This record gives sequence, structure tokens and C-alpha cells, in this order.
Amino acid sequence: MDTPKLPPLPRFEDDDHGPAAARARRELAERSAGVSLVHVAGAPVDSRSAKGNVENLVGYVQVPLGLAGPLQVDTSAGRSEVYVPMATNEGALVASHARGMRLLAAGGGARSRVIREGLTQIPMLVYDDAAGASRARELVAGLFPGWREHVAATTRHGALVSARPEQLGRRLALRLEFTTGDAIGINMAAAAADHCSRSLALASGARECHVHGEDVEKRANARALIEGRGRSVVCDATIPRAALASLARATPEQLVRVHRTYTVGFAQLGTQNWLVQSANGLAAVLIACGQDAAYLTECATGHLDLDLDARGDLYACASLPSLLVGTVGGGSAKGTAAECLGLLGCAGSGQANAFAEILGAVVLAGDLSLMAAFASGEFVAAHERLGRNRPI
Ligand code: NAP
Repeated sequence: MDTPKLPPLPRFEDDDHGPAAARARRELAERSAGVSLVHVAGAPVDSRSAKGNVENLVGYVQVPLGLAGPLQVDTSAGRSEVYVPMATNEGALVASHARGMRLLAAGGGARSRVIREGLTQIPMLVYDDAAGASRARELVAGLFPGWREHVAATTRHGALVSARPEQLGRRLALRLEFTTGDAIGINMAAAAADHCSRSLALASGARECHVHGEDVEKRANARALIEGRGRSVVCDATIPRAALASLARATPEQLVRVHRTYTVGFAQLGTQNWLVQSANGLAAVLIACGQDAAYLTECATGHLDLDLDARGDLYACASLPSLLVGTVGGGSAKGTAAECLGLLGCAGSGQANAFAEILGAVVLAGDLSLMAAFASGEFVAAHERLGRNRPI
């Protein structure tokens, strides 16, 4: 990784939450990323820009926005160093991720890549008996080329890449997988899934057809961990022992040991989320960047791997198989969302993989910092100091 170019974010002892402190950090971020943050600063957006995103509009809610970073990460778009916008009401969350980003930087930065891409939707068809479902299963391969042509004619950016029938007794789950360009793509996939499932129902004499039959959408589920949905990201880094000691007062052995106990707990819970605080960092960036936050249920799925390397430093790797995010579509091009994506260098077409890869590094930073806080026994004290909000 090149020598860091971005300075640390300024802190102001006397009034760190006052308007002058917020402006100083904002102006630094604007200069660094070459973007304007007028809406983040409070300028209203044209209310008509919310058409297609909300009904019965009355205004906009306020969520405090902080910056963590600089984050150093090598993505498929190249090496980058960015300040990460995080919208949250959880005190200590931004500070925790910022510390994790310092740990990543101490090891030369994280490396993050999309390793698989494809949005699935799984309609379900019902037959009188299992033999009917079996006959339908055999029709899928023959119908597939026509479905693919139909999808190609309805979207410039989406494509049907596979159709896999899975028989469940007298029901057939039709697992359709799409590429969707830089959008999450659920609108194009939903229309395509409707067409394909109706076509199969007609050809096979199904007695019921449900376009969202096996409803993975916005639900923590086993497929999200095993098969992945949206973009699957792997992000890893090595944290030098000395940096872990000086920045987080912990050793690699302590983190590995704490993590081992957490994995026993995760197994007991039967969770699909074997990361430590993925939901925290992801929620904050998803909200800042105009994503559909309900996808957090799937996005937060994944694994953390911690180990000692040959030199006794800490190797850390986050796997996030189901990141449902987009840099086009939904609310991503509007107001504060476009500005926050701009801060990451990820606004618009051609940026969805880099955005997902940056999210992988945000999650790795958050997990490293939290594991270190557990290892050093500083977790509760940090929240008491930064996150306690007693009613006045
Ligand atoms: P979208 O808002 O429908 O936008 C995608 C559109 O952008 C497509 O029309 C596409 O054109 C166009 N586009 C331009 N450049 C593109 C590029 N580089 N990559 C991909 N598309 C590009 O986006 P979406 O991700 O499908 O839908 C997200 C929204 O749907 C969110 O607001 C979400 O809350 C909502 N949603 C819908 C459902 C549902 O079941 N329908 C469920 C959950 C959420 P082409 O059409 O020509 O490709």
C-alpha cells in the first residue's frame, strides 16, 4: 500500500460536536474526495426527488453522520484511502470502526474482493403430487433459453444466468440467478421471476405459482451463508503484533482465544452471522449511502477468521457472502446518499463491486476493534464514555 495521503480527522477538545468542528471535518472530507457535501451540511433536497422512494411524504428524518478513517483498502478498482460515512445513533460505533481502520492501516491496509455475484429469487410452484413436480423439473432446461431472451429484452443491465429447479415433495422451488449491473436489481429480478415462473406453471400444469415462494428476500437464512446472494466479498489483512499492542492494548493470542469462545457461542445460537459486529458497521454505511436498510438481515451474514501468522502477527479475514447493495437505483443517487457514496468514490455506474469491497473492509475493521475491546476488557468502559445517553 502507498504511503497514506489522508490526514487523521481533526478532533476538538473543547467542543467536538459543535458546528465549527463538524465543518472542519466536512471540509477536509470534501477536499479529499473532491465532492460537495451541501446536503450533509443541511441543505434540503427537492422533495420531488423522493418520488419512487416513498409514499405520503412528509419530510426527512435526521440521523447523525460521522466519519471513520482514513480506511486503506485495496479493491478491484485499485488502492484507495477514504473517509467512511457512518450514520448512527450508537455512541462508540464510529470510534470503534475508526480504531479498527487504524489497525488495518498499521498492517498496510486491507485487501478486499468480490468473489461471486448474482441475485437470486426463488419462485415456488405447487403440483397435485410429487410426480407432477418431477415432470416440471425436467422442463426447466428446455424453457431456460427463452427465459434468458425475455429477460435480455426487458433490461439493459440485468441478465438471467441460471435456473435450478429444486424439488420439495410436490413443490418445485425454481432458483433463478441474475446479474444486475450496479443495482441491487430486485425490481428487474422480480419482473423476470414473475415471467419465468408463470411460463413454467403454464407448461407444467402447476396448481399454484408463488413468485416469492421460498422467500429469501430480507430474511436471515441458510442460503445467505452457504450460496450467497448479491455480491460475495472476502476481505483480509495482517495486523502487526506491535500495532495491536499500542493501538488496542491486546495481543494476537488474546484475540484468537476470545474469538474461539465466540464461535462456540455462535454454534449454540444457530446463527448465520459468525461475524462479531457486522450489523453495526453495515447499518451505518447502508443508511448513509441510501441503501435499502432492510437488506441488512442478509448483508450481515458471514464468517470471521482470526489466526496467528508465521511471524506471530494477527491474520484476520471477513467473509460476507450476501451483500445486497447498489450504487445505482433505489435511493443511491439522491441527496446525502449520493454525497456519501461520492466520499467513498463509489457513486454511480461501475462502482458496485468497489462499494461492496469497501463494506467488507468496514466490517473487518469493526470486528477487529470489538474483539480487541473484549480481549483488553475495555468494551463496557468505552460505551460508558462515548455512548451513554441518560434522559435529561
Ligand atoms: P432500481 O431502482 O429499479 O434501478 C435500476 C434501474 O437503473 C434499472 O432500470 C436499470 O436500467 C437502471 N440502470 C442504469 N444504469 C445501471 C447500471 N449500471 N446497473 C444497473 N442498473 C442500471 O434498482 P433495483 O436495485 O432493481 O431496486 C432497488 C429498489 O427496489 C430499492 O428502492 C428497494 O427498496 C426496492 N425493492 C423492490 C422490491 C421488489 O420486490 N420489487 C423488493 C425490495 C426492494 P435497465 O432496467 O435498463 O437495466
